[in-house]
Amino acid sequence: MNFEDYRGVWVFIEEKDGIIAEVALELLGAGRRLADKRKTQLSGVLIGDQVTGLAQTAFEYGADCVYVYDDPIYRFYRTETYMRAMLACVEKYKPEILLYGATSTGKDLASAVATDLPTGLTADTTQLDVEEDTGLLLASRPAFGGNIMATILCKKYRPQMATVRPKVMKALQRVPGRIGEIVEESIPITEEDIRTKVLEIVRATTQRARIDEADIIVSGGKGLGGPAGFQLIHQLAETLGAAVGASRDVVEAGWIGHHHQVGQTGVTVTPKIYFAVGISGAIQHIVGMQNSGLIIAINKDPAAPIFQSCHYGIVGDALEIVPMLIEGFKAALG
Ligand code: FAD
Repeated sequence: MNFEDYRGVWVFIEEKDGIIAEVALELLGAGRRLADKRKTQLSGVLIGDQVTGLAQTAFEYGADCVYVYDDPIYRFYRTETYMRAMLACVEKYKPEILLYGATSTGKDLASAVATDLPTGLTADTTQLDVEEDTGLLLASRPAFGGNIMATILCKKYRPQMATVRPKVMKALQRVPGRIGEIVEESIPITEEDIRTKVLEIVRATTQRARIDEADIIVSGGKGLGGPAGFQLIHQLAETLGAAVGASRDVVEAGWIGHHHQVGQTGVTVTPKIYFAVGISGAIQHIVGMQNSGLIIAINKDPAAPIFQSCHYGIVGDALEIVPMLIEGFKAALG
């Protein structure tokens, strides 16, 4: 493998319903920094149906070039179609670094592409850097239960690929009107070539905000005692217009679904306000919420580790305190 042939930093521009995923904009910010350090181009790969217009948004967030696969066959994400497009693009233009958001789509695509290319994939990265002279990507992620950060290198193969957690990188300030190059690409692919058919799309029925997008999150832990106690978390969230988060133990107990789990094996969140109610503050939870703007913890144990990671702490029984907060907030918010 001749490393000289591989140039540029690429970002998979994840899109849904005509909107670019936040994480793709964040990755353009991170990718820009890497590309500048390597004195190379930052490119996006945009795959979808009627998506070419979105390339302009990618330019305004830092991309120099966008490879576009625009075809009705890409209307819904399917591993096979997207993987084939991405593989064709990588084989034709040979990027040095290729980043994907660690969303369900990004993780699926990255792992499928990695099985076909003779290279590795660092999953769930939270820090990225590059060695200026060698171009070696320094992809770091928590390891051993979040107790250490491991920096993973891909020394022998190209491209160097990583999935990156949403909300940990910063998008650049948008520069309206910034221009770049659109490269229209296509591959010979028809519906008949694809084994997976999309028969129906069932949208999630919940009206609640998603935890990765919410400004306020009310998270509950095992200290709520059971599903009945956990209802208080829903009620407080409802009062504040907040999303509901949870510790892993709560998810494993079946009180709420996995997509509400905050932490190392859940979602990394950075809301403006984070309530941790009846959560002990295990490191695996803390790594997923420690960058929140304001952290308020409620725990009956004054020695609970969560109090080391919060801005305000209330020591007491959550089953008594949360109803008082609901009442107080309701009165204040009208
Ligand atoms: P507990 O640790 O049981 O804490 C309950 C807390 O509630 C205690 O502090 C107690 O004092 C308090 N309490 C009890 N009663 C009351 C009351 N009436 N009022 C107020 N407070 C009360 N965890 C995550 O959350 N997210 C992850 O992504 C995650 N990933 C993991 C990955 C690995 C590889 C491993 C090994 C673990 C992971 N964990 C994760 C689990 C983590 O280590 C903890 O076990 C978990 O976070 C504990 O959940 P908890 O705080 O709800 O429960």
